[in-house]
Amino acid sequence: MKLYTKIMKFMRPFWKHILSVLVLTLLYVFFNNLSLWISVDFIKELFDPAQVNQMVTAADSTQAHTANPASDVMALTTKGNNFYHEVKRTIKSWLIRDNRQDTLITVCFLIFLTFLLKNITLYGRRILLNFIELKIIVNIRNQLHHKMLHLPLRYFDKRHSGELNSVLFNDVNAINVVLDTSFGKMILAPVQIGVNIFILFMISWQLSLVTFIIIPLSAIVMTKIGKSMRRRSRRVFQQIADVVSLFQEAITGIRIVKAFATEPFESQKFEASNNQYFKKTFRQQQLRYMTSPINETMYVSILVFLLWYGGNLVYSHSGLTAEDFIRFLLFLFTMFQPLKELSGVNNVIQNGLAAAERIFEVLDSEEEVYDKPDAKELQMFSRNIRYEHASFSYDADEKPVLQNINLDINKGETVALVGPSGAGKTTLVNLLPRFYECTGGQITIDGTNVQDVTLASLRQHIGIVTQDTILFNDTIRANIAYSKADIPEEQIIHAAKAANAWEFIEKMPEGLDTFIGEKGTRLSGGQKQRLSIARAILKNPPILILDEATSALDTESERLVQNAIEHLLESRTVLVIAHRLSTIQNADKIVVLQDGRIDSIGTHLELLESSALYKNLYENQLLAGKED
Ligand code: ADP
Repeated sequence: MKLYTKIMKFMRPFWKHILSVLVLTLLYVFFNNLSLWISVDFIKELFDPAQVNQMVTAADSTQAHTANPASDVMALTTKGNNFYHEVKRTIKSWLIRDNRQDTLITVCFLIFLTFLLKNITLYGRRILLNFIELKIIVNIRNQLHHKMLHLPLRYFDKRHSGELNSVLFNDVNAINVVLDTSFGKMILAPVQIGVNIFILFMISWQLSLVTFIIIPLSAIVMTKIGKSMRRRSRRVFQQIADVVSLFQEAITGIRIVKAFATEPFESQKFEASNNQYFKKTFRQQQLRYMTSPINETMYVSILVFLLWYGGNLVYSHSGLTAEDFIRFLLFLFTMFQPLKELSGVNNVIQNGLAAAERIFEVLDSEEEVYDKPDAKELQMFSRNIRYEHASFSYDADEKPVLQNINLDINKGETVALVGPSGAGKTTLVNLLPRFYECTGGQITIDGTNVQDVTLASLRQHIGIVTQDTILFNDTIRANIAYSKADIPEEQIIHAAKAANAWEFIEKMPEGLDTFIGEKGTRLSGGQKQRLSIARAILKNPPILILDEATSALDTESERLVQNAIEHLLESRTVLVIAHRLSTIQNADKIVVLQDGRIDSIGTHLELLESSALYKNLYENQLLAGKED
């Protein structure tokens, strides 16, 4: 039930539209039924002139007999329901004219008018419904996208991006299909069924009672099938997410796939998953297509019984005229359609609910702890950054990755982090911009806990240059200016020059406006790094986190990148995960990490004396120029 309430939330803003749809639906059903009703009169007018003449008299005498309106229609039916006859006579009184020619014209005109009005209301409600549906889909996608960007990094550690991709597109699409095919029917079918039931009872309650054995019966079948449908649909969605993930993985890693010649292996993996998709979807479809034949068989059994029973009633002159029986059957037939639709809709809805569950799983996930209610703006950085007994673990039940980290970084200092792989260097720097929150202790900037300032202002003060350069499939200009649309060109060029990037940008056919391809595939490794350095220079943050590249660049490229980094380091406070001897020797402070703890802090020369671990690292890795 909670799921329905959540879905309702998306509908709520459109309640006025939905109400209008309801009114239009009622009007549509009214005109539709009126046109049917009149059609029976029309048939009667054609085939039974004697009765019509009788009706003219009956209709004419209506006004005179209002005290006992039932008595004058007894010529037609001896027994029956007053209200029905009242309606029948009123409608007939609109139709029947003095001569048959006029009657025919009136009937034709009224049939045309009711069909016209019916179609106008039909168009109006479809347009309105479509407006609501599209708006809801756009809103769901916007909310999902917004949510995904605000989910903590922790969330992405556990999820494949293909899975999120699939939720945003496939699952939302499923909702789109539900709304498109079923939303209108969900409103229309119950109204149609309700009105038809009313009319059927009005015509003959005995026949109606017999008919309504179907409804609970088909309701039971519908819910049974519906439940199973939802289960099967959920499996299909999970499977398609898996297919998308596999595809995405293979395409993003296409270079590795080709280098290792693992195309057949990747194809096999994909085919296996895709075959699973086939099986699960086919099972779902088998069930889906079973609904209609089951329902139809049920309806026809009832119908055959009715024909026999109603036919006998007509033959025995027990009150039901042939006209009433035809009208009854006509309204019964027109009720079968919405009944059938409703059971079809149920399947689609169950499919949609399975998608909605997955959507709400994302929407209900806890967001990144953003700003405390009283969070302040971090105005400027003027003194120091301090890690005070900071500790952290990725998983609550696992051993902490960082324990009791105490570290002072004064403004303007360059602090190098060294240590074996897995010691916690990356984790330590990631705590500063609050990519992850400390699980113990705190980090302060100028004495203020970073958790007490707004995330936006904190991150404005911090620039990050990582080994794996993150570039977007856009122009060089857009990549350097990233999100700042109105930066003057001179500033971009200045940053590009400082990052030693201008010399290659200048040579490109379209200069700053050259597209660099997905993730910058059209650039060399060194060029990509220089672009991301240019981006950091343009942002001009007082604090810089640098994950020194370990990937081998050719000597010339390395010199250019190194030189660009030196520009970037100028007059900033820097936390660098160091892999180069030169960086370490130039650092004001070196922090040696091991197993999530600080082993020692000092300058290069001090540490060579005091730390066996550092000496070892220095001799085996740094000196040899090896990666950690
Ligand atoms: P370093 O940068 O020194 O190589 P990291 O900070 O990357 O070390 O990793 C420290 C430890 O935390 C390692 O044991 C690593 O397996 C673990 N770790 C790193 N990132 C994650 C993550 N996103 N989820 C869970 N564990 C992680």
